[in-house]
Amino acid sequence: MTTALATAAPKGGAWLLEGTAHDTVFTPERMNDEHKMMARTTSDFALNEVIPVLDRLENKEWALSKALVHRCGELGLMGTDTPEEYGGLDLDKASSLIVAENIAKAASFTVTFGAMTGLSIMPLLLFGNDAQRRKYLPKLISGEWAGAYALSESGSGSDALGARARAVRRDDGSYVLNGEKMWISNASFADLIIVFAKVDGEHFTAFIVERTFPGVSSGKEEHKLGIHGSSTAPIILQDAIVPAENVLGEIGKGHKVAFEVLNYGRFKLGAMCSGGAKAVIGEAAKYASTRKQFGVSISTFGAIKHKLGEMTLRTYGVESMMYRLAGLIEEAKAAGTGSHAQNLRDALEEFASESSIAKVAGSEVIDYVIDENVQIHGGNGFVTDYPAERHYRDARVNRIFEGTNEINRLLIPGILIKRAVKGELKLIPAAMALLDEVMSPALAEPPGDGTLEAEQAAVVAFRKVALLILGAAMQKYMQKISDEQEVLMHVADIMIDAYTAESSVLRALDADARRLPNAVLHVDAARAIVSDAAARIEANAKSALAAMADGDMLRTQLAALRRVLKVTPVNTVTIRRALADATVERGSYIFG
Ligand SMILES: Cc1cc2nc3c(=O)[nH]c(=O)nc-3n(C[C@H](O)[C@H](O)[C@H](O)COP(=O)(O)OP(=O)(O)OC[C@H]3O[C@@H](n4cnc5c(N)ncnc54)[C@H](O)[C@@H]3O)c2cc1C
Repeated sequence: MTTALATAAPKGGAWLLEGTAHDTVFTPERMNDEHKMMARTTSDFALNEVIPVLDRLENKEWALSKALVHRCGELGLMGTDTPEEYGGLDLDKASSLIVAENIAKAASFTVTFGAMTGLSIMPLLLFGNDAQRRKYLPKLISGEWAGAYALSESGSGSDALGARARAVRRDDGSYVLNGEKMWISNASFADLIIVFAKVDGEHFTAFIVERTFPGVSSGKEEHKLGIHGSSTAPIILQDAIVPAENVLGEIGKGHKVAFEVLNYGRFKLGAMCSGGAKAVIGEAAKYASTRKQFGVSISTFGAIKHKLGEMTLRTYGVESMMYRLAGLIEEAKAAGTGSHAQNLRDALEEFASESSIAKVAGSEVIDYVIDENVQIHGGNGFVTDYPAERHYRDARVNRIFEGTNEINRLLIPGILIKRAVKGELKLIPAAMALLDEVMSPALAEPPGDGTLEAEQAAVVAFRKVALLILGAAMQKYMQKISDEQEVLMHVADIMIDAYTAESSVLRALDADARRLPNAVLHVDAARAIVSDAAARIEANAKSALAAMADGDMLRTQLAALRRVLKVTPVNTVTIRRALADATVERGSYIFG
């Protein structure tokens, strides 16, 4: 099964510097039969085997969580990333994305599953030695064991490297671990925990800890806003004895394990959010078509059409980006010449900035979608008879874990800045050339009126704006740029909008070129996404420029911005109506 469509190894951040051909991009419409089967298997499991027992999970029946983990193993849902020799299926990244999107229908069990595949299997796969992988991966992938990942502490969440948990080496080579890890998903029933602690209080290191090791226990379950069916509790290490062979990776290199794993976790979380949003749109559409007020179905009201249309648009944007990214990670991995683990690590690192974009965009789109779903349900959205209120509570955590959205927003440009400084990404020369171009502009040909021609010109302009603002910030603040978080947040927001809009246009162009039956709706969605993104990008760019310059300099820069960003708004009201009507007619999300 392959999703690799391009020939050369793709580079993270390159999308800012050069255009992309639509036929090199992976889209949901390019799913093959195996992908579709994976989607069905996962979706059926979530809807038929998890949702009917959700009350019991929410009552903290953890034996049931473990049984469901085991069932995921039987269905092959947890082995998509892992080679067969360790009990996996070694499928492409699109398959992992598809499983993540569909498991999102399993309410809070999604978090249990994510802590298994993203946070327990991944560290072993990426950093374990052969003996560790052989010993532990088959147990986790088959669901015989449940896993957890214990990085956070009460005093160190975002600042994960500030952990206080300590490890001291004993004469026989084993380690004694002491400390308390907070908010650990699956803590109450995990058999294996990836624990981070500082050897001699200094060298941040990952350890593979079995629950049965002496001195390992979990604390009381947290009382949470949502995801009540997911275990969240402290992991307590009280003179816990961990054998020497259970050091994961190198002593003092735990940060590599932690961050690399989170890169993939962010990609998968983006997928879970996009899958969750799609499912909720179906609920909203069904409710809106059956609920009557003033003698008619509420789906006939423009205000409700606006919501359904906007929910669909935003989800289309994030979904287009997620599939594009899955294809890119797969291509980068396939082009690697090292071991399976090395190639995967390199590919994930290559696309770390894009994975942060996926995490932020996904978690914010699902929050928008579930909020509007509550609104469409009115009073019924606020009571427990309908799932709308549960979605609302469950989804909020997505902006907090896997790196808060603030931390991820800082990473989006931050990763590219670091690469530019090292000369790995030609951001600085490109920004300088662009500065010359906008200061002495040649008369640009207006775009033609062919399908999405204006939108293609607009996404070129979006990329230029992102580069201009990023270049200006790097020039002004130099090494102190990381102190200018507000400007970096504006840059991140521009990049999120630009990447989402470009991914949507590429997907719609592909749908149009292949004459898909609903190509018109794809094209409409891309047009509206670009039109709305232009306004937000302009506002973010203006705020960033005004923070960096004033007087004549600011006026010159704003004039340059106007020259670059010439996007004529389209009639998004009719587009949203068309999308809403199609959604109501189908009773579900209309794309993907
Ligand atoms: C339900 C749930 C499950 C979880 N599961 C796990 C798990 O399985 N394993 C695990 O290890 N952890 C887990 N966590 C912990 C989670 O990863 C942390 O809560 C998260 O990283 C944020 O850390 P914090 O709570 O300490 O917030 P803080 O780091 O204190 O952040 C508070 C606020 O300050 C902002 N902030 C912090 N630093 C900066 C900065 N440098 N610049 C700008 N803003 C900043 C944050 O964005 C946030 O808005 C879980 C948390 C929850 C709620």
